[in-house]
Amino acid sequence: MVANIVVVFGIPGVGKTTVLSETVETAPKEGLKVQVVNFGDKMLEVALEEKLIEGGEKARDQIRRIPLETQRRIQRISGEKIAKIAEESEGTVIVDTHVLIQTPFGYLTGLPVWVAEALKPNILAIIEAKIEEITSRRAKDLTRERDLDEEEKIKEHQKMNRWGAVCVATLTGATVAIIENSEKKVGEASKTLIKLIKSH
Ligand code: AMP
Ligand code: MG
Repeated sequence: MVANIVVVFGIPGVGKTTVLSETVETAPKEGLKVQVVNFGDKMLEVALEEKLIEGGEKARDQIRRIPLETQRRIQRISGEKIAKIAEESEGTVIVDTHVLIQTPFGYLTGLPVWVAEALKPNILAIIEAKIEEITSRRAKDLTRERDLDEEEKIKEHQKMNRWGAVCVATLTGATVAIIENSEKKVGEASKTLIKLIKSH
């Protein structure tokens, strides 16, 4: 029993979590068994266990500021935990994560070779959205300590993600799909993702 792994990327504020909630809700109606595992949740669990960060509502936004070597170490542990979940599951495990994390040390790859090889994803899906939607979503989300980047930075990050995804595809043989999301079309983005999962 090993689940099909689909890794979903998307810069903060793109609406990734919303698309994935919709996907979990509609997948059973399409005869699909789908489970979402959030990589950030695993990182948070480990970081809190090891007292690397303070708890609290915005704790997950402290993770990318932890010293780099430690981030890499807990990233590896989190990847292994998720690989184990997938090994013990059937159907599809969607991993909600980031291909490149903006850290004070530069962009950190979300799937270095050891994580990519542990997860063995079949599909890499990048969720993208219009810059205006991303900025307004980041500004509205008071539960998070989002980086309020200027437009150029967001554009760069979104562009870099495509390159990053291709690098992960090179390591894993996975396919790369780009899914456009907009506030009004979350349903469509989710349908596209489901279609993609069904095609495999
Ligand atoms: P999220 O809620 O998806 O924004 O994730 C919260 C935080 O978890 C991110 O800001 C990153 O610091 C961390 N994180 C998520 N996925 C990864 C990954 N694959 N590698 C390293 N850190 C990650
Ligand atoms: Mg999210």
